[in-house]
Amino acid sequence: MLAQEIIRKKRDGGCLGKDEIQFFVDGITSGAVSEGQISALAMAVYFQGMELDERVALTLAMRDSGAVLDWSELNGPVVDKHSTGGVGDNVSLMLAPALAACGAYVPMISGRGLGHTGGTLDKFDSIPGYVTQPDNALFRKVTKEVGCAIIGQTANLAPADKRFYGIRDVTATVESIHLITASILSKKLAAGLDGLVLDVKSGSGAFMPSHEDSQKLAKSLVTVANGAGVETSALLTDMNEPLATAAGNAIEMKNAVKFLTGAHIDPRNWQITVALGAEMLRIAKLVETAEEGVQKMQEAYRSGAATEKFSAMVTALGGPADFVENMDKHLSLAPKVVDIPAPKAGFVEAIDTRQLGIAIVELGGGRRKASDAIDHSVGLDKLAGIGQRLEKGQPLAKVYAHNDEQVARASALVQQAYQIGEQQIASHAVYETITG
Ligand code: URA
Repeated sequence: MLAQEIIRKKRDGGCLGKDEIQFFVDGITSGAVSEGQISALAMAVYFQGMELDERVALTLAMRDSGAVLDWSELNGPVVDKHSTGGVGDNVSLMLAPALAACGAYVPMISGRGLGHTGGTLDKFDSIPGYVTQPDNALFRKVTKEVGCAIIGQTANLAPADKRFYGIRDVTATVESIHLITASILSKKLAAGLDGLVLDVKSGSGAFMPSHEDSQKLAKSLVTVANGAGVETSALLTDMNEPLATAAGNAIEMKNAVKFLTGAHIDPRNWQITVALGAEMLRIAKLVETAEEGVQKMQEAYRSGAATEKFSAMVTALGGPADFVENMDKHLSLAPKVVDIPAPKAGFVEAIDTRQLGIAIVELGGGRRKASDAIDHSVGLDKLAGIGQRLEKGQPLAKVYAHNDEQVARASALVQQAYQIGEQQIASHAVYETITG
């Protein structure tokens, strides 16, 4: 087979066979296919798309390009969630322990934040001692004994996607729903899951802001994952405002612990976390219906069982044993805490959520490029939500920073991000659930 013939076929609108896709992906992994050829195929797919069978074949070939985890020693269902990312999205921190409390196993391989979206691993890096890159043995032990382990990638998962994505990123070919589908799923399916639920965000802070595109992506992910043999659903959820009222690393960790202990729960975060968990329990066959799953999730939080699992996971992965009880002692927050005033009175009509994410990056709490170090102590808290009435001068948010210059820059970005007017608009949480 020749890589150029495969590219030519796709360029002309043909449908690639499983063998051709396997050959090309093998070449991506081994280096036998050049960067130029990979970018040419990506561009051909960008314009011509891929049929369902091609997308499934691409996903499976990329999944199998590296290690595929095997959890057959566990005597329960193995499930995970993937979010397309957003601002103030700390769902995983509360979701994984609640599922573990309900009898599921959740080996959650998470990523770091890049650009305006935050990353789960960065939030865990704010806990002193917590090992986000444990060795494989510790990862397996914590998953088995606690039921959940939130970590960064240990084994070499989907290396073909790593190379493919790196080339797409610099050749304007990331924005292909079919390639995004195979990219996300190859990594998630390499974790050896029985079931998967995707949280596809739509709105101003989402990776894909348009509702129609997010819906298309959700449908593509669900169809391909089910086609690849893993029962999968997607929830289309709102990212027209931050999900938690906190955004930043230690600040979101604090918000998550307050959610778990019941000290403070942001309503949209509760709705989305419980809905995702309920669907994961249904897919894991631990409940018959999502409604039953909602009851079970609520019970896991109300009984304190989810908090116990969270605490056990933190300790097992090297964090302080009294983290939940004494988080203020363990989490370090930037010393300069200043309210950002609303420039005028009215209702919050719209929020440029992406811009709030960029304000975090500018404070040093996010990354412009993957190799950047970040400051876990900065961020925004008490963010006003859509529909909220504010008088002039009342706070839009509180900024945690180190100096006046940072405060001024973050305040300007936050004030520009808020549209305040006379209309009281309703906020949203879950738009729809797409099942396989
Ligand atoms: N995230 C991924 O993992 N892959 C894509 O292609 C886009 C977003």
